[in-house]
Amino acid sequence: MNEETHDVVVVGAGVIGLACAWAALRDGARVTLVERDFEGDRASHGNAGGIAVSESTPIAVHGMVSKALKWLMDPLGPLAVDWKHLPKALPWFMAFRRAAEPERYQAVSHALALLNNRVYDDLLPMFDDIGATSMHYRRGALTVYETDEAFAADQDEWAFKRELGVRWHALNAQQVRECEPALAPVFRHGVFLDDWSHIGDPRRIVTLLRERVRALGARFVTGVARAIEAPGSVALADGTRVSGRRIVVAAGAWSEALARSIGDRVLLESERGYNATLPRHGIALNREVIFAERKFVATPLDVGMRIGGAAEFAGLDAPPNYQRSDALLTLGKRFLPGIDDTGAARWMGHRPATPDSLPVIGASPRVPSVVYAFGHGHLGLTQSATTAALVADVLAGRTPRVPLAPYSIARF
Ligand SMILES: Cc1cc2nc3c(=O)[nH]c(=O)nc-3n(C[C@H](O)[C@H](O)[C@H](O)COP(=O)(O)OP(=O)(O)OC[C@H]3O[C@@H](n4cnc5c(N)ncnc54)[C@H](O)[C@@H]3O)c2cc1C
Repeated sequence: MNEETHDVVVVGAGVIGLACAWAALRDGARVTLVERDFEGDRASHGNAGGIAVSESTPIAVHGMVSKALKWLMDPLGPLAVDWKHLPKALPWFMAFRRAAEPERYQAVSHALALLNNRVYDDLLPMFDDIGATSMHYRRGALTVYETDEAFAADQDEWAFKRELGVRWHALNAQQVRECEPALAPVFRHGVFLDDWSHIGDPRRIVTLLRERVRALGARFVTGVARAIEAPGSVALADGTRVSGRRIVVAAGAWSEALARSIGDRVLLESERGYNATLPRHGIALNREVIFAERKFVATPLDVGMRIGGAAEFAGLDAPPNYQRSDALLTLGKRFLPGIDDTGAARWMGHRPATPDSLPVIGASPRVPSVVYAFGHGHLGLTQSATTAALVADVLAGRTPRVPLAPYSIARF
């Protein structure tokens, strides 16, 4: 043992780990952050910037498998699987299929809504404290449909979302054009999402959060966490250890190995997403637009128009295939006519995805001093402050503001 023992060691300084550190510090804990590269790229830097509180149903929906098979036929379509990776990912895909069964789908949706419906209670104070309020745009979002068939097919899901507390209203073709005049005039229907919002730059949020956590007194240790040595020590790749009374695992898509090191099982895949950011786009979009049939989004960020999407299952180590960014850009040009792609930057990030779309939040059943905060998939930015508030409750021994059973790692 060559380290003083801090109250809490947080592994991972993406938006989730930093938010957990921020909440624990404000509770009076002494915090050490372990991160392999504090300045390096990560999912939290390049995401679409959406505070997507309306996404309260899981990705796995009934009938998804036949749609997925069709998508897989298109090499640059919204879904791709590297066949070399399939044997490793098979248990995840089987669990994904089970998550679409009606009873499980209902239960997961209610658990997602419990988190999403309190996002602003937790996020607004955090944005205020780190100085991010002026780059938070509460203008709703717009889902657009090219065909009557796709709009009709989604009606049950929209009705269910309303039951879950999601506020939305349907727009006709004319109203879609009035709402977002920059869109190509091909959309027959729209759904306006009142409570969705977006931020100006996800990377800036991470930087502001990191600066604030440093100012609140956190200790920063650069190193690769190799294993957790129960009950309160993290072994680093360079042979040193960092000790704490509690350990928070917030290593995004890399968290599985750390859970496994204390005997906890989890199904976690990197759902690799892509985008292109156009700094000089020349398009006036007021809010994030979700293109329902094509499965991509466009967000008017402060740093440019970000056109992103795609779900590629190829593991953590395969090189990025930036043709996916190019394919998204081609879609963006088609549906945002006249957009200028000069200086477009291509990006790939690892969404930490569980098969049921629920994050893993709460203490390890094997080693209660270890607390998990990972697996947020498409919603890590959205659920960051709420996850942090729940983790802070666990660390402080308070009753969590949301019952944590649905998010437990024990479900695997
Ligand atoms: C294309 C795309 C679009 C998205 N759009 C949105 C959106 O609009 N809204 C939304 O809410 N979410 C969105 N997401 C999801 C969101 O970005 C993620 O859920 C979120 O960033 C996950 O945060 P994290 O902190 O868990 O992971 P990360 O940001 O990946 O951070 C994990 C950190 O852990 C570190 N780490 C890992 N292993 C170790 C180790 N062994 N030792 C030390 N350090 C380690 C890594 O270096 C990294 O810094 C999107 C994701 C993608 C890819």
